[in-house]
Amino acid sequence: MSAAALADALVSREISSADATQAYLDRIAAVDPDVHAYLHVNDAALAAAKVIDARRAAGDDLGPLAGVPVAVKDVLCTADMPTTAGSRILEGWVPPYDATPVARLRQAGLVPLGKTNMDEFAMGSSTEYSAYGPTRNPWNLDRIPGGSGGGSAAAVAAFEAPLALGSDTGGSIRQPGAVTGTVGVKPTYGGVSRYGSIALASSLDQVGPVARTVLDAALLHDVIGGHDPRDSTSIPDAWPSFAEAARDGLQRDDLTGLRVGVVAELSGGDGFQAGVEQRFRETVDLLERAGATVIEIAAPSFAYAISAYYLILPAEASSNLAKFDSVRFGLRVTPDGGGTVEDVMAATRERGFGPEVKRRIILGTYALSAGYYDAYYGSAQKVRTLVQRDFATAFDQVDLLISPSAPTTAFAIGERVNDPLAMYLNDLTTIPANLAGVPGMTIPMGLAPEDGLPVGVQLMAPAREDARLYRYGAVLERLLEASWGSRLLDRAPDLDRGQESAAEAGVV
Ligand code: GLN
Repeated sequence: MSAAALADALVSREISSADATQAYLDRIAAVDPDVHAYLHVNDAALAAAKVIDARRAAGDDLGPLAGVPVAVKDVLCTADMPTTAGSRILEGWVPPYDATPVARLRQAGLVPLGKTNMDEFAMGSSTEYSAYGPTRNPWNLDRIPGGSGGGSAAAVAAFEAPLALGSDTGGSIRQPGAVTGTVGVKPTYGGVSRYGSIALASSLDQVGPVARTVLDAALLHDVIGGHDPRDSTSIPDAWPSFAEAARDGLQRDDLTGLRVGVVAELSGGDGFQAGVEQRFRETVDLLERAGATVIEIAAPSFAYAISAYYLILPAEASSNLAKFDSVRFGLRVTPDGGGTVEDVMAATRERGFGPEVKRRIILGTYALSAGYYDAYYGSAQKVRTLVQRDFATAFDQVDLLISPSAPTTAFAIGERVNDPLAMYLNDLTTIPANLAGVPGMTIPMGLAPEDGLPVGVQLMAPAREDARLYRYGAVLERLLEASWGSRLLDRAPDLDRGQESAAEAGVV
């Protein structure tokens, strides 16, 4: 069931939240030993569901998703569950408060199922940098589920949760969405509060929804989004209903008048898998056949976005991670024979951080150092401005930009873990939106013919136009499904049908 369908069944009392929650807990018990999407399962989930059932029985006015279970990426603080951000340095840490998106989930009556696995401090594209072991892709357990939010995406793809929260600094919602056949949205920067989201790079981070349909993502975005005085970068203006935008999209099939730009720099060539390019061309054809005008857009600075990102992100991360000093949070390691406060901090950070985190702290500290600041961090900020200008020029000509969400399907576990550069190149298509603060969405665009694994298409809109993504995302989702003849992504083949491939099942 989609979250929207489950919500309807809850309203009509066909099913109770307690039964739905129990079904998800059973599914987690059955498949999570293989998938490892969760770091922690909420032992209070059933009790929370029963409270919602009682309130519904009492006639309380409940929100549209009340009683629907949801998984939460372990980067978000939860007052009743450990929050590790995938790191040993926070092992066992229980925050004193809820992150705003989590508080809003609870307020809206959603039932937190647990915390999902992620690359340590959200650095990575595969969850292999989690200190607690990788998550596996439900479509093929030998493949990565993307990252850093691979846990949330895999949980939704494996039917271990109908909805999940993620965070996206350079693609960590969209790239896992692409490779697991799920829907994910990085909202406009400032659209969802960052309060209580453990910071990776504060000028890039956004919390957002992970779901199986565009409407489900919209419903969740409506719950978590909107102004929060506790986040000084939160946009104070009111937002339209994203669910309404998605429902409007579901009524349409004529796209006459819509102008769509294919970003040349993000849509093929070096590093792109042939099957991804093929599905993308077919998706563009679908849009044209529905009446949209498609033009090619040049965004020359996007070619440098990844280089700029990998200076800006480590710079901000090295600063944000300085707070993990053994004094206030989590782990404390005292060297043999004692030592000074600095010795304790050094020993703690040496033991508590994994190799990718250390790599980025060193890179960022170097890029910010007095002698190199202008050459590296300063230049990267200039490129960031150019990327923003390329978006502005593009959105003078078109309403939406589109590209594949990731250059390849899910790669094998172990393939890139020791090759940071190969890992970074994955983010080619998603990073520009973070640098410019514009919203981006991934929706499944079928399976790649070579390997039968999911591929995603990315839609991007101007800042604050998230509703446009939901409206046209819903249209495109329907067009794609009609072209497949069924919701072919409504299953997790490697879990439910053994190793039988999608090709054998005749759906490729
Ligand atoms: N893969 C990107 C990185 O490693 C994405 C991170 C993110 O969005 N949290 O930086």
